[in-house]
Amino acid sequence: MLVRVEAIVIRSIDYGEGNKILTLFAKEAGKVSVMARGAKKLKSRHTAISQPFTYGEFVFFKSGQMGTLSSGEIWNGYRRLREDIRKAAYASYLMEMTERTLEDNERKPQLFEQLKASLDALDEDKDPQIIVHLYEMKILDMSGYRPELGACVSCGTREGRMSLSAQLGGTVCSRCRSADPSALEVPESAIKLLRLFLDMDIRRLGTTQLKPETKSLLKECIRRLLDAHIDVRWKSRSFIDKMEKYGI
Ligand SMILES: [Zn+2]
Repeated sequence: MLVRVEAIVIRSIDYGEGNKILTLFAKEAGKVSVMARGAKKLKSRHTAISQPFTYGEFVFFKSGQMGTLSSGEIWNGYRRLREDIRKAAYASYLMEMTERTLEDNERKPQLFEQLKASLDALDEDKDPQIIVHLYEMKILDMSGYRPELGACVSCGTREGRMSLSAQLGGTVCSRCRSADPSALEVPESAIKLLRLFLDMDIRRLGTTQLKPETKSLLKECIRRLLDAHIDVRWKSRSFIDKMEKYGI
């Protein structure tokens, strides 16, 4: 069966003599694996389209678990992004997050749009840390772990000072806070930002600027939420952490 999909290459690994196995995130079909024969060779017609982050149309034969790439058309190769080590590191983290959290053939067209928008935003020199945090919130939401950030997760009150409990999945009021001693005290302004990040469409991201201390607080909060629910000991994430630490 010949299948035609609009997709992004979220992983590309060498396989055997000159081949690559691509993991595609297809807008309508979800995560699919495709063998690109000869893609490791420089002169192959499959070389360019097999690069990570490539967005385009992929045509492949499907019989059984893995497809075989027949042809394709690159709509955006994100070449500049791939050649910039810093941006490529952030993009790799977005890809790895997607690859690890999606089930095979799970249809997620909205997440696809957000991933595509994240690549565009990185390419347009928007703040990579903000892009990453926005996408992390989409991953949480679409994996079924949307945090409750409007009221206390335990008693439902909207009054008083709130803390963030990753274990309980959102904000807790001062009376319920004892249910999770590790809950993080955060200012109301940070909770508002988290709420904004949760619902904001990345396609609408402007050139937002946040203070470094606000960004590091957001990072702490979102990391806690992610790590409580999703196993994220990912290579690409420790790389961007090192990069940010040493100011690369
Ligand atoms: Zn409460």
